[in-house]
Amino acid sequence: MTQDRIKVFKFGGASVKSAEAFRNLARIVTAKGGERHLLLIVSAMGKTTNALEELLNLAYQQHAFEQPFLHLKAYHFEVLQNLFPQQDHAVFQRLEHLFDLLHSQLTGIQPNDNFDFVYDQTVSFGELFSSTILHCFLKEQGVHNALIDSKKYIQTDSTWREAKVDWAWSERLIKRDVIPLLQQGLVVTQGFLGGTNNGLTTTLGREGSDFSAAVFAYCLDAEGMYIWKDVAGLLNADPKYFPDTVCYPEISYQETVEMAYYGASVIHPKTIKPLANKQIPLYVKSFLDPEGAGTKICECRFEVIAPAYIIKEKQCLISFGVKDFTFISEQNLGTIFNALSELRIKINLMQNSAISFSICTDYHPERLHRLLQTLHDQFVIHYNTELRLYTIKNYDTQSINRMMEGRQVLMEQRTRTTFQFVSK
Ligand code: ASP
Ligand code: MG
Repeated sequence: MTQDRIKVFKFGGASVKSAEAFRNLARIVTAKGGERHLLLIVSAMGKTTNALEELLNLAYQQHAFEQPFLHLKAYHFEVLQNLFPQQDHAVFQRLEHLFDLLHSQLTGIQPNDNFDFVYDQTVSFGELFSSTILHCFLKEQGVHNALIDSKKYIQTDSTWREAKVDWAWSERLIKRDVIPLLQQGLVVTQGFLGGTNNGLTTTLGREGSDFSAAVFAYCLDAEGMYIWKDVAGLLNADPKYFPDTVCYPEISYQETVEMAYYGASVIHPKTIKPLANKQIPLYVKSFLDPEGAGTKICECRFEVIAPAYIIKEKQCLISFGVKDFTFISEQNLGTIFNALSELRIKINLMQNSAISFSICTDYHPERLHRLLQTLHDQFVIHYNTELRLYTIKNYDTQSINRMMEGRQVLMEQRTRTTFQFVSK
């Protein structure tokens, strides 16, 4: 049974990218949710996660990172100074302390450390900064709220950078500790982060804060989850590429999950399943127009639905050929799949022909390099990078023509509902 009144709000990087954005967020929270039974999940400010990834890369290669570090710190302190006119407010010290910890973390990185492990210990700071600021700012505004450490509640295994959630254990902890806090007031926590049972930080995959919010919504049996974005709701295309987008007023979990899977950046792909399992509706709303209708994602069915155009960037097309002109066998495929699974390379699209097997994947240079090393003895491997995977869901002739016009197609596939191709 869903808990009456508990709502989970997720605010992404854009909704906390500046002092003005924090103020807008605070207005939404006070106007919409009231102060109780509301859990706020927040991402890192603006592009902080990218900046942290860059700092990590520099530190890992034993290069100087001082300048970009100070730049990131200055960005956060500028926002603080704007939000807290009282310069001796405790929040300044809290942020100083967090930045000191980040600095020691970066300094301690050794070239032979496990990269994915140090990634989680380093890149997780973005959400610690933003959630601390949000907690203090709301308090300053007179909104009673508790800040909790999401790594103590979202319990995961130690698959660094893509940790798997221990649902039963997380649910127990969240029910035990977070429900009582929500009965007293608002609760703030970090998106993107989880923790292992020995207290190490994990992350749930880039853009994973939506998923964090869904984990909390599931474990709290929330009545609804809300994602606040800078667009009107769930759109049928990215306005960056298409000037004439349509906002779906209502759409099914199934359609949404497929769109996310094909690369629609609006919602993290893992978000829907936990919500659908408990029939918790997901609302996508605009923080620029909080009164706007937005989109409701729930169990529903429509006969006709506007085609969705999805573009997945940074794709790589890899083809494996056998060396002796024999056909690609199931055994060959087994070898390839094993190597892909071992290296955590996910297939976005695949096609098989007599003497070769091709896949389209996200481009990870270092994983690709290891794949080539593992398989070059057995296969002739060619690859192209800098590609895009184009998908049209619920396509018609007109939508296909529109998407394909002027593009050279390297691989193409169509099912009853979905049309996909790989191109520049
Ligand atoms: N801050 C993390 C990222 O940018 C998580 C998120 O925003 O959802 O990937
Ligand atoms: Mg983010």
